[in-house]
Amino acid sequence: MKVYKFGGASVKNAAGVRNLAQIVAREKGELVVVVSAMGKTTNALERLVSLSLSGEEELMLRQLSDIRDYHFGIVSELFPTGHTFIENKLEAMLGQILACCKAALVEKPEYDEFYDSVVSFGELMSTRIVSYVLDREGTQNICLDMTKLLVTDDTYREARPEMKKSQHSLKSFMESNPARVYVAQGFIGGTESGRRTTLGREGSDYSAALIANMLDAESVTIWKDVPGILNADPRLINETTLIHELTYFDAVELAYSGAQVIHPKTIRPLENKHIPLYVKPFMNPEAEGSVIKDTTARPIDVPVFIWRKNQVLVTLRAKDFSFVLEDSLNRLFETIYRHRLKVSMIQSSAITVSVCVDKSRYLEAALKELSEDYRVTFNEGLSLLTIRGTTPEIIAQHTEGKTILLSQTTRRTARYVIKE
Ligand code: ASP
Ligand code: MG
Repeated sequence: MKVYKFGGASVKNAAGVRNLAQIVAREKGELVVVVSAMGKTTNALERLVSLSLSGEEELMLRQLSDIRDYHFGIVSELFPTGHTFIENKLEAMLGQILACCKAALVEKPEYDEFYDSVVSFGELMSTRIVSYVLDREGTQNICLDMTKLLVTDDTYREARPEMKKSQHSLKSFMESNPARVYVAQGFIGGTESGRRTTLGREGSDYSAALIANMLDAESVTIWKDVPGILNADPRLINETTLIHELTYFDAVELAYSGAQVIHPKTIRPLENKHIPLYVKPFMNPEAEGSVIKDTTARPIDVPVFIWRKNQVLVTLRAKDFSFVLEDSLNRLFETIYRHRLKVSMIQSSAITVSVCVDKSRYLEAALKELSEDYRVTFNEGLSLLTIRGTTPEIIAQHTEGKTILLSQTTRRTARYVIKE
């Protein structure tokens, strides 16, 4: 059993879906195809959620109709003579989204739970379309409903999977519904009580890794719009180099530093079962791409640059001028965890602790709570630049003329919090 994952960019239009079908058709063994929402659908659904909660009915209806047009546009290009089966399926889901949003106008539900109930439809729609196209092109398959098969807790927008229960559900469903190819939604799951959940933005890679872990897959392949894992984001650096092999350890470090190419949570479920992860270009399926695995004979020999954007540097100073003692650090990190802040760097001195975190909608509440114990100051609009395997010349080249608010260097890695 192999797992293939296709992100939003790979299924953003009819040509993308056809290309996916061709890649899948080349694989003759057992396969689970994990698919994200089409194109920028998750962003569009996020906006729909905000409009519903702020009571802007007219804009909300227009937004939903744009989402509808986008999906129907792809379907009609795929099936120019019309296909009522898939159209009816989509119409039914859009009807459910509309009902959720209309109810929200009145009931003003809690943001996170409502978000998951609506945003999860992005993947539910894309997988329906993909599964249908595969069938029509001769790859018989079964579409899995991950809201029932990936059992999670109820931490909405960042749900944590219950592996034992999920594995049981998934395996028993597959045993009673045998097929060579399955199609599954990335990013989404559901609680035991039947509420839809999501695993956090860009979480489809994570879903693919979880599925691979539960099914003891032989490998996972993430099909992307880049040739593989590069030593820098090609949108930010002109000349990039493909890294052919990485260890799980390298990959975790890169993902933590902010490399967009894989979601940070993806590695653990794979490392635990020694399942290799391939990253390959969907426009050139024959290309070698990159592989992440236990060990490598080809260590990374180029400097690697990673930018983690949208950073906020929070500085906490003990109010009573006491040292920041261990027990207060404990409380500090408990607060950070409870408010779901994502920490990218930590530095402490005698009476201050600086914590660099991703900007998030939970930050304000966290800072309010922290200001009970600390004098809190913060700087927004920052980037964290990590340079691995570097030389002083390279560092100078990339930091010159920039305001560095915080830096940390080890023998191998230099990290800078930069004001752009
Ligand atoms: N569709 C979700 C997102 O855009 C999950 C994913 O693409 O991985 O965040
Ligand atoms: Mg996406």
